[in-house]
Amino acid sequence: MPELRKDPVTGRWVILSTRRRKRPNDFRIERSAVVSGAYCPFCPGREDLTPPEILAFRQNGSGANTPGWDLRVVPNKFPALQVEGSLDREGEGMFDRMNGIGAHEVVIEHPDHAKTLATMTEGEIERVLWAFRERIQDLKRDRRFRYILIFKNHGAPAGASLEHSHSQLIALPIVPDFVREELDGAKQHYGAKERCVFCDILRQEIAAERRVIQEDADIIALSPYAPRFPFETWMLPRRHGARFEDASHAEYEGLARMLWSVLARMNRTLEHPSYNLLIHSAPFTEEVGDYYHWHVELMPKLTRTAGFEWGTGFYINPTSPEEAADVLRNARLEPVRG
Ligand SMILES: [Zn+2]
Ligand SMILES: [Zn+2]
Ligand SMILES: [Zn+2]
Repeated sequence: MPELRKDPVTGRWVILSTRRRKRPNDFRIERSAVVSGAYCPFCPGREDLTPPEILAFRQNGSGANTPGWDLRVVPNKFPALQVEGSLDREGEGMFDRMNGIGAHEVVIEHPDHAKTLATMTEGEIERVLWAFRERIQDLKRDRRFRYILIFKNHGAPAGASLEHSHSQLIALPIVPDFVREELDGAKQHYGAKERCVFCDILRQEIAAERRVIQEDADIIALSPYAPRFPFETWMLPRRHGARFEDASHAEYEGLARMLWSVLARMNRTLEHPSYNLLIHSAPFTEEVGDYYHWHVELMPKLTRTAGFEWGTGFYINPTSPEEAADVLRNARLEPVRG
């Protein structure tokens, strides 16, 4: 059973997942193995290589766990957390621990092995967003969970071990640190000004224009004022809302269009970078409606995080957000039709 332990100094929780116990030698080879087409367990016809599906979008009445799907959600075969059991929160002297309970699922976004978000149609990307929403609404009913992390690693340097386009979803019994940090900051801003900090950012950035990459009716893409990584990009809904799963139909449509557009711009100007994509949304056990504002963060993997960043927790970014926004805004796009 994986275990969650809390650092007594910083309050940071870590997952100890010793089930796949590693000796020091095992770490060296882990990076290089990316599973490609010939052995891909996510391709149609290999449904028996994944655990049975939790959700699938199918057009032609095909049976569960058989080909004929447009999108599948399956449990992760190597989950970081385990779904069965109780949390058993307990103290161990001054320390705090609980069982590593959580759901870890994989969204297989498209039957075609070669498709990526940047080569899918907007409708196909929107389908992925609806799958996220459906899984969140289902997992939310489980009282053990407080947060659902939705993320995508694209390309081996970003941590993807399978080529076939997919995203992951982890339901957690705790609120992760980076969300907690944002919540605390947003709450403070609201306390002082009675306004959402993200709404304030949108107002100022739209007026200033310099860091805006693309502005649509429902979603805005921008380079944040103090980005940690070169070409870090945020996508925010124009309308205030704390939770991704409560967004409107038009917002999913707009986000699908924006994701496609921003990724196509990056492919054009940054030579098809690997990237990490995260959805930031409010924890569902807390009332944060007025001060938190859901959004998507996209970090292309252009530099390796060096020892300095790990050691100091201080980011050095060689590209200004004004320059990044300018490059992406001016990228020429050719629409995909599927
Ligand atoms: Zn595949
Ligand atoms: Zn807001
Ligand atoms: Zn965020």
